[in-house]
Amino acid sequence: MGSLAGRTALVTGGSRGIGRGVAERLAREGARVAVHYGTNREAAEQVVKEIRAGGGSAFAIGAELGVPGDAEALWAAFDAGLAEHTEGATGLDILVNNAGVNALGRIHEVTEADYDRVFAVNVKAPFFVIRHGLDRLRDGGRIVNISSGATRIAFPGITAYSMTKGALDVLTLTLAQDLGPRGITVNSVSPGIVATDINPWLADPDAHAQAASYSVFGRVGQAADIAGVVAFVASEDARWVTGQTLDATGGSVLGV
Ligand code: NAP
Repeated sequence: MGSLAGRTALVTGGSRGIGRGVAERLAREGARVAVHYGTNREAAEQVVKEIRAGGGSAFAIGAELGVPGDAEALWAAFDAGLAEHTEGATGLDILVNNAGVNALGRIHEVTEADYDRVFAVNVKAPFFVIRHGLDRLRDGGRIVNISSGATRIAFPGITAYSMTKGALDVLTLTLAQDLGPRGITVNSVSPGIVATDINPWLADPDAHAQAASYSVFGRVGQAADIAGVVAFVASEDARWVTGQTLDATGGSVLGV
């Protein structure tokens, strides 16, 4: 029996990258996992297949985030998926707000459309996913928001993106206060540079070496590095940790 046996988790953007690593890890800990995707259903179904092959429980749900009505659509898909794939299970124990997009550009390069899009997906969507999910989330539950080390380390080339993660961290802090009486913890986990599709530039060996050099461990992060931290925050052992931002950057840019 894993530490999360009997729990139900929803991982937004669980179909690829960090979210995939988180979905697989929570499933290994025994949670039933709703693997959310935006457009790439095949990728989500593949994650579900692999979780089931390993003896875990999972189902895929699709909903595009960052568009009007996104949160309602996501929860409708979650409810339907739970009804279809489980025997009468209801409710949720762990919500991981992971789905996100990047917005490249220094301030003078960012258009209003770029700005609105990155805030719609990275801030507005998690806000309303939580808002509409609160009646499903059981007391004693967990909310984990995937933030970014870019809230601590200045990267002018991703100004708008970094701002979205700052907003997410404030949501974490504020909600932790609000939801404490229900025993729900709310935390942010902040990855450094992780090898996923969001960073296609890592294919360039020089850029990869530069990214690796940021960490005191001299390498780029992997999804599993982040998933371990999320699994901890989601666990019973983390019941006394809330309102925090956990730096999971491999000690990036700690000093000179
Ligand atoms: P990724 O590999 O590009 O995966 C993104 C995931 O989010 C996919 O499952 C994707 O589903 C989903 N998604 C994206 N936009 C969506 C939308 N509009 N509606 C619904 N789903 C959407 O990204 P990642 O690197 O794993 O990033 C995951 C999170 O970690 C993000 O919040 C990111 O900001 C954060 N983060 C990443 C890094 C890094 O270096 N990788 C560092 C710090 C923080 P579809 O494929 O179906 O669209």
